[in-house]
Amino acid sequence: MNNFFQDFKDNLIKQYFECQAYKFLCDSQGFNPSINLNSEADIEKVPFIATTLFKKSAEMFTNLLRVPLDVIDKWTLSSSTSGDPSMVGRRKCDIMKIKELDDLNKKTYKSFSNQACVFFPEPKVMREYKSKVVYGKSTESYIGNILDVSDLKDNSIFLVKPDEDNLIVDMDKFKLFLETHNGLENNISICGSTPLLFDAINILQKTMKPLNLGKNALVNTFGGGWDGKKGTVSIGTSIKRQDFVENLSNFLGIPEDNFIDSYSFTENTFSITGHYSKEYKDYLFHVPEWGRMIIRDIKTLKPLYSPGDRGFIQMLNAYGTTTFAGASVLVDDIGEIVSISECPECKTKLMTIKIIGRVRGAEAKGCGATLNVRSEK
Ligand SMILES: [Zn+2]
Repeated sequence: MNNFFQDFKDNLIKQYFECQAYKFLCDSQGFNPSINLNSEADIEKVPFIATTLFKKSAEMFTNLLRVPLDVIDKWTLSSSTSGDPSMVGRRKCDIMKIKELDDLNKKTYKSFSNQACVFFPEPKVMREYKSKVVYGKSTESYIGNILDVSDLKDNSIFLVKPDEDNLIVDMDKFKLFLETHNGLENNISICGSTPLLFDAINILQKTMKPLNLGKNALVNTFGGGWDGKKGTVSIGTSIKRQDFVENLSNFLGIPEDNFIDSYSFTENTFSITGHYSKEYKDYLFHVPEWGRMIIRDIKTLKPLYSPGDRGFIQMLNAYGTTTFAGASVLVDDIGEIVSISECPECKTKLMTIKIIGRVRGAEAKGCGATLNVRSEK
């Protein structure tokens, strides 16, 4: 893992030959990775697979594998409010790659802690939650994949328990955790699901005095849910990032600088991590050197490069997609370019974006139409 472009090209050429559906897509667009991918600048020409093609209802997910069905280890299933999840075949080696890239991320963000309080169920419970068998392989959520290989310490506290079809937060345990660390400036982290954490804090605020967890505490959210929904979890309202950070920072006594959020999606391998910016009143996400991102116009799908431009997020993966055609995927989440080359706040020399969220209403309609046109190719 040292030269992204070469590794990406190798991955794409293999995908082209291993996945008939992807080869068909490339051929129909007159693109052959062995011939047409010669420099970083050519990456924007690489055909992408829209995440809608991984939906169960599209009945393509077995055709999007790069290996025979019987050698995959599991299906990663997206959480879905619509009942039509994505199905992504993975082997252990690809899941370990997710972990490897995540560990690299952690090093960059120094997200060290002695004890974590996690707004997700414990790994075993998370893996088995609503798991089904499809073509002989178990389904598991992306969070389940990640928790399964995470090296969260043994003293981690998992606050979420399934209660029949719902997930419930153990509020007494959370309260105890907060009281135990109050005023001590311990190295602790509060991590996991945004809506569950936000909801829990709103409940505590009614009966508890503000706390002072101090400058060594971190709030590290991941798994999305800023629209207030995540699978069966719903708090019925979208969460403004500024409100989330300011509210939690005030109540928990944790500096706003100590808030980070990670973004990825079921069909992708590397996650991008954002640090909260007081100036932007939003998280600024860096695209790490081991991945690439292109923001594409919602209507024309043309690549965009100027600060302030908004569009669909396309992720280019060099690593961790040996099981499925995930080298180049377009998702219907909207990102906004902050800078193509440098974070304006911490000056890291990486592409920096804000995550805007899912497309809605008229935009969503346009997106659906555009994606269908593409998928018919
Ligand atoms: Zn930065």
